[in-house]
Amino acid sequence: MSKPSAIVIGAGIVGLATARALATRGYQVTIFERNERAVGASIRNFGMVWPIGQPTGPLFERAMLSRSIWKQTCKEAGIWHDEVGSLHLAYHDDELEVIEQYANINKSYRDCALLSPQQALNKSTSVNPDGLKGALWSSTEMIVEAREAIAAVAKYLAEQQGVIFHWNTAISQVTTNTVTSGTKQYHADEIFICSGVEFETLYPELFASFEITKCKLQMMRLAAQPKNGRIGPALCGSLSMIHYPGFQAAPALPTLRKRYEKEYAEYLKWGIHVMAAQNQTGEITVGDSHEYGLVHDPFDKDFINQMILKYLQTFTRFKDTRVIQTWNGTYAKMITGQTELVVDAEPGVTIINGLGGNGMTLSFGLCEQIIAAKFN
Ligand SMILES: Cc1cc2nc3c(=O)[nH]c(=O)nc-3n(C[C@H](O)[C@H](O)[C@H](O)COP(=O)(O)OP(=O)(O)OC[C@H]3O[C@@H](n4cnc5c(N)ncnc54)[C@H](O)[C@@H]3O)c2cc1C
Repeated sequence: MSKPSAIVIGAGIVGLATARALATRGYQVTIFERNERAVGASIRNFGMVWPIGQPTGPLFERAMLSRSIWKQTCKEAGIWHDEVGSLHLAYHDDELEVIEQYANINKSYRDCALLSPQQALNKSTSVNPDGLKGALWSSTEMIVEAREAIAAVAKYLAEQQGVIFHWNTAISQVTTNTVTSGTKQYHADEIFICSGVEFETLYPELFASFEITKCKLQMMRLAAQPKNGRIGPALCGSLSMIHYPGFQAAPALPTLRKRYEKEYAEYLKWGIHVMAAQNQTGEITVGDSHEYGLVHDPFDKDFINQMILKYLQTFTRFKDTRVIQTWNGTYAKMITGQTELVVDAEPGVTIINGLGGNGMTLSFGLCEQIIAAKFN
């Protein structure tokens, strides 16, 4: 009997995660990617696999499932990854209160703890010690170098899971069991559309009916630190506490947000919160900002980068702060508060999209859960 077959459109993390889940269940999977390699959100991000950003419950569990799949895939494919954990740094009493509450609420559930300033400095010599009141340590965060890891996952799926890739092949139409690229047609039992921000190309009317938008982020990379210096955990300023839903469980958060609304109004306007993660060569990825809308100005705003760098100095002490790269990335996000869009466009055609700023953290877990529920 021949294998069941599936077509996946898009070789970003969502497409790759879908292909992995199908291939491990015996499907013959073919991926179509319009570019010669993935160049979208999945290679432009921090590479942060970030369970701490997820609220306690099913999303945290999904993030941890994702993390275990990332880890296994990285090991099998020889992909660099660093289980460094994270530090959220507090320089004001109200920030300390939020992380203290977070640690108390979550201590029996997550591997996290409130650290004294000295304990935080012991974890990272790159933390700014001036005025440091404490830090939230979490062990679950993992870093990959997205621009290499995504290509390496594709190679691994091709070589070890038998996934067939058609690069440079834009799909222009989809119907039940059939995808069309120009004059060519391809057939499969199941079709999955994982097209990221290019969601309006296929099923435009259906997408117009969804409450989905696009978010543009500005990012930077700092030079490799001298003498192979490592920063240790990923470092986060406390603006991240009001960004990630994981912190909403802390009762002191609304008061902190109110202060930031006054003191950091311009930062909140541009959706800026600042995090830093180091890659295998010692370079540091820094970001980010958030601008929402269906169309974006293609040009980056220097003042946003300057604001990010200024805030970065409040909680870090990097030895080399030269900016060696700037770029932007865009992801698809639901405006309803939904954490993803999973819809049957027609029989046998499933859309998976809208993971927002959590695609690296959640895709492997989400797609594993979707495929398990559909075909087990
Ligand atoms: C700057 C930035 C930082 C981020 N940081 C993090 C982070 O640290 N941690 C985290 O968890 N998440 C992060 N994210 C979010 C994460 O990157 C996204 O959620 C995720 O990459 C979305 O993956 P995707 O596969 O849906 O989209 P994409 O990566 O954009 O992939 C979609 C692919 O589909 C292809 N495609 C589209 N239409 C067609 C077609 N018709 N035919 C053929 N191919 C098609 C495109 O060419 C593209 O390669 C960040 C995002 C950005 C932009």
